[in-house]
Amino acid sequence: MKKTLKFDIQPFKLYDNIYFVGSSRVSVHIIDTKDGLVMIDTGYPDMYEQILDSMNELGLNPKDICAIFHSHGHIDHFGCTQKFKELSGAKTYISTIDNDIVNGKLDLSWAKELGYDRLPPFDCDVLVEDGEKYSFGDVVVRCILTPGHTDGVLSFFIDIRTEEKNFVAAMYGGAGFNTLTTEFLNRYNLSFECRDIFRESLRKVIDEPVDVFLGNHPEHNDTKGKLQRILLGEDIVDTGEWKRFLIGVGKGLDNEIANVF
Ligand SMILES: [Zn+2]
Repeated sequence: MKKTLKFDIQPFKLYDNIYFVGSSRVSVHIIDTKDGLVMIDTGYPDMYEQILDSMNELGLNPKDICAIFHSHGHIDHFGCTQKFKELSGAKTYISTIDNDIVNGKLDLSWAKELGYDRLPPFDCDVLVEDGEKYSFGDVVVRCILTPGHTDGVLSFFIDIRTEEKNFVAAMYGGAGFNTLTTEFLNRYNLSFECRDIFRESLRKVIDEPVDVFLGNHPEHNDTKGKLQRILLGEDIVDTGEWKRFLIGVGKGLDNEIANVF
């Protein structure tokens, strides 16, 4: 008998060919393209079975994954990468900068802080520079460097242009302030400049036109709320959501620096 697994967020089709297969802790997305499945982030190391079950539930074959993109080099975003690569033979992508975290040159993966053992180091296959684009059938993934949360955060603009479809889905690749605190920066002997760099990254992409906003974590784009709206048959396209989110992140950063850090 097939065991019934509990998802804390039921896997679902977010929009068109984009699926959510993550959990309430961190987002994992799959884009179904003519060239195969493109995965964005691979969750915590203990999420492998859950992601497999989520994909199976949606009729997506994990062996069809052809590419794995990483928003940044924290363990909650690359925790299952090696397992999915072994299973599917997918090519792995990360910024050149954050590859030094996954390959262990920099001890900044947040494994210890998040309560995990360090993962065996690996290099990604494709080291991404700012502005690079990759095509998968009718889908183009444009990668924009938006450093701050880590030095090599990538934000993704996923352009889908066919005769029937024409939209942009996008993810801001790292919006947390946990790497900007005085305590953290001092502990790893890092420069406080990252706070200004973070602000500059928000400005860099805030005017990008985005139809469907993808969360790097589910709270960024109210993933659970979107699921409820989809179940009610409502449209989740919201061309203002991207900008509202980034404005909120900027205000949150100013507030943290003034009152908390
Ligand atoms: Zn992170």
